[in-house]
Amino acid sequence: MRVGIGYDVHRLVPGRRLILGGVEIPHDRGLSGHSDADVLAHAVAGALLGAAGLGDVGQHFPDTDPSLQDLASGVILQQVVRMVVERGYRVENVDTVVIAEAPRLAPHREAIRASLARWLGVSVSQVNLQATTHEGVGALGRGEAIASHAVVALAEATKP
Ligand code: MG
Repeated sequence: MRVGIGYDVHRLVPGRRLILGGVEIPHDRGLSGHSDADVLAHAVAGALLGAAGLGDVGQHFPDTDPSLQDLASGVILQQVVRMVVERGYRVENVDTVVIAEAPRLAPHREAIRASLARWLGVSVSQVNLQATTHEGVGALGRGEAIASHAVVALAEATKP
């Protein structure tokens, strides 16, 4: 069994869509940044790389690479899953925390779990999402950004 941790934060700005775990969430602002700035997908990708001992997301998908400019984060995450599988691991479970003052994520929880599970090639029961606010404290509490944490457990895949 191997465990990895991932963290990411992206600023909320007007004129962008808000994508979390591959699900578009209705909101007056979206996350700015590289690719579609899916902060949750990036945290999970980081946790997968961490668990497999493969470094971090920026190392494999540098934001200086113009070919990655508008790349959907699902593509990044699925590429990371392939890297992990190639090294002989399978995803055991994933736990995530998204810290967003707004919008409320609870109504989207099941859609996000299903989307992440599809990308990871696991069942929905293996993916958890904890949605929380930052209690009005600091930049996250003022709704200037959304942050995400993820923990992934990998098991060694059984040889056929
Ligand atoms: Mg990111």
